Amino acid sequence: MPQVETVRGPVDVDLLGMTLMHEHVFVLNEEVRENYPGDWNEDDRVDDAIGKLNSLAARGCQTIVDPTVLGLGRDIHRIKRVADGIELNIIVATGLYTYNEVPFYFKFRFPAEDGTDPMTAMFVNDITTGIADTGVKAAFLKCAIDDHGMTPDVERVLRAVARAHKETAAPVTVHTHPQSGTGRDVLRVLREEGADLSKVVLGHSGDTSDLDYLAELADAGCILGMDRFGIDVITPFEERVSTVVAMCERGYAGSMVLSHDASCYIDWFPQEVIPMFAPSWHYEHLFNDVFPALRERGVTDEQMHTMLVANPRRYFSG
Ligand SMILES: [Zn+2]
Repeated sequence: MPQVETVRGPVDVDLLGMTLMHEHVFVLNEEVRENYPGDWNEDDRVDDAIGKLNSLAARGCQTIVDPTVLGLGRDIHRIKRVADGIELNIIVATGLYTYNEVPFYFKFRFPAEDGTDPMTAMFVNDITTGIADTGVKAAFLKCAIDDHGMTPDVERVLRAVARAHKETAAPVTVHTHPQSGTGRDVLRVLREEGADLSKVVLGHSGDTSDLDYLAELADAGCILGMDRFGIDVITPFEERVSTVVAMCERGYAGSMVLSHDASCYIDWFPQEVIPMFAPSWHYEHLFNDVFPALRERGVTDEQMHTMLVANPRRYFSG
C-alpha cells in the first residue's frame, strides 16, 4: 500500500478519504508579522485554525493538501500545533511561490552550468529528510506562474521543482493564471524536463470557462485544479459550477480536483474586508453550495467520488 507523508507522519493513501487538494491554513508575510504583529496572537490563531478544520472534518473531509511554501509564510512548527488538535490529515509542500523574481537569498545562489539549482537540493531535503527540525516531510512540490508569464526566475523555479520531482517522484502543484493560458507554458517546460504530467495539478484552472483550453491540458495528462470555489470575485459561482459540470459531461471527472484555496488566516487583506468581497471563501462552501449545485446539474456520486477521493489518492500514490 503506497503511503503519503502528512504532518503526523505517513498515512496509507487509501485512508486519505475525501481530500481538498488546495487549502492553506495560514498565508502570511512572516517578516511583516514579526515586525508589525498588530493584534496577532499565536495561541488564538492556532485555536481558530483548529476550530475551523474540525468543522471541516465534521462535514466529511478527511485530508487537506496545503500548498503553503516559501513566499507564503510556511511555518511547520505552527502547522504541527494545529495538526495536534485535529483528526484531519494535513499534507504539506515544499517549493517557492513567486510571480516574477526569486528572493535575494536565491539570486546569487544561481544554477550551475549544467542547470543544477541549489533550490532543488533544498526541496529534495524537505521531501526526503524533513523540513528544518520539525521531523515533518513535504509530500509535494509547489510553484507559481501568474499573468507576468514565464519570467526567467519563474522558469528557474519551475525547472528546479521539476528536477526535485524527477529525483523524488513527489507530485507537483503549479499556481497558474488560465486567463492568460499559462498552463500551456507550464506544460512546455515540464515536458522538456521529462516530468510525469499525471502527477501535476494545474492550480486555479477553474478560474476559466474555456473548455477547449481545459480539455487540452487534461488530454496532456495534467490534473485540473478546480480549486478556487468561493473566490467569486475572480470567477462567479455559477460559471465555476457550469465549467465542472461541462467537463464532467465531456468525460473529464478523472482529471479534476475540487477545492477552495481558502485559509484560516490570510494577511493579504485587512481581515474585515474579506467577508465583504468574498463571503463564501471558506472551507465549507463546497459542502454548503457547490456539491448540491453539481448534483442538481447531473454530476453523479461516482464522479464526485472520483474528483474528491480517487484523483487525490492517485496523485499521492507514487
Ligand atoms: Zn493557494
